[in-house]
Amino acid sequence: MKAKIAVIAGDGIGPEIVAQAVEVLKKVAAEFGHGFTFDERPVGGAAYDATGDCLPAETLDACRRADAVLLGAVGGPKWDSLPAAQRPERRALLTLRRELGLFANLRPARTWPTLRGSSPLKDEIVAEGVDLLVVRELTGGLYFGEHVRAADGQSALDTMPYSVAEIERIARVAFAAARKRRGRVTCVDKANVLETSRLWRETVQRLQGTEASDIALDFMYVDNAAMQLVRSPSHFDVLLAENMFGDILSDEASQITGSIGMLPSASLREDGFGLYEPIHGSAPDIAGRGVANPLATILSAALLLRHSLGLEAESAAIERATGEVLASGELTPDLGGSATTSQVGAAVAKKVYGG
Ligand code: NAD
Repeated sequence: MKAKIAVIAGDGIGPEIVAQAVEVLKKVAAEFGHGFTFDERPVGGAAYDATGDCLPAETLDACRRADAVLLGAVGGPKWDSLPAAQRPERRALLTLRRELGLFANLRPARTWPTLRGSSPLKDEIVAEGVDLLVVRELTGGLYFGEHVRAADGQSALDTMPYSVAEIERIARVAFAAARKRRGRVTCVDKANVLETSRLWRETVQRLQGTEASDIALDFMYVDNAAMQLVRSPSHFDVLLAENMFGDILSDEASQITGSIGMLPSASLREDGFGLYEPIHGSAPDIAGRGVANPLATILSAALLLRHSLGLEAESAAIERATGEVLASGELTPDLGGSATTSQVGAAVAKKVYGG
């Protein structure tokens, strides 16, 4: 397969970790016989310094022309004093999501056997292993509804609109993801209180009947889901949620694994195009020292292969290689080791081999 990947490394540790993910993707291409091209463009504070804009038009165009986008991280103290609308996090990240139509956010959270001790949960709770995926609706609901403050400042109103079409398209993403996993979707809502949640339930249930009868579907109130995530996280496969519930639950789920340097994410459009990035930021405190953990970015590259390019075996090869490197003890300092960013990246690339 030929694919063009836009690479926007960004600020802080972004260039260091993205370079490792690109090396791993090059190894995948060599092992499996693909032709990947990498279109590297500036974004974030680095782009602001060079062009006066955190998201230059050429960068956005390059992302639009690509089959998928790999992002490092943006932001840092140097650009914190810019006006809000020009700051890297807002101008670059929110504009990219909006302009590229990325309505579905996927955040897998899993425990790796050798890192189980870094989970804040008791050993007996994570003993079975956790491997779940939060599928969050990213462009609707409470965050995108109307936000109003009364003229006297004494009351305020936020609305949570959802249409059947918006619910169907995110439910389809969850069903498709579950099909590549253990075939179970838990739809999280508050249908005992909210009308939008009742619309979610009806719509997701109906869609499962017509398009996804191979998927086991259940429903759970969000308060119960928050509790079950720390009580028996192994129970979950795919968690499907509207924007705010998904925001909160994906942060909670990410903590189960214990290390911010291990967590990838994907933001997808309906046609499978997506932007892939680690969930952590630009870590200015360790930037330039060569000690950042590149695994969240490497695992984001694995998601890119799976969701945007449909290369499941290749994606699995990266995840397996990551597990082997973790087991070998070649770890960056955040995981208790003394390996450098590039040593860990090279170790993963070395262990990627084709079928
Ligand atoms: P952060 O995620 O950058 O760092 C939090 C802590 O985790 C730091 O101690 C850092 O050293 C550590 N850390 C993060 N990633 C790591 C990795 N791969 N390996 C080892 N340690 C790692 O969060 P922050 O400090 O709150 O934010 C720093 C900057 O990043 C800010 O400008 C913030 O706005 C920005 N940010 C960007 C994104 C993004 O680009 N998507 C997300 C969050 C924060």
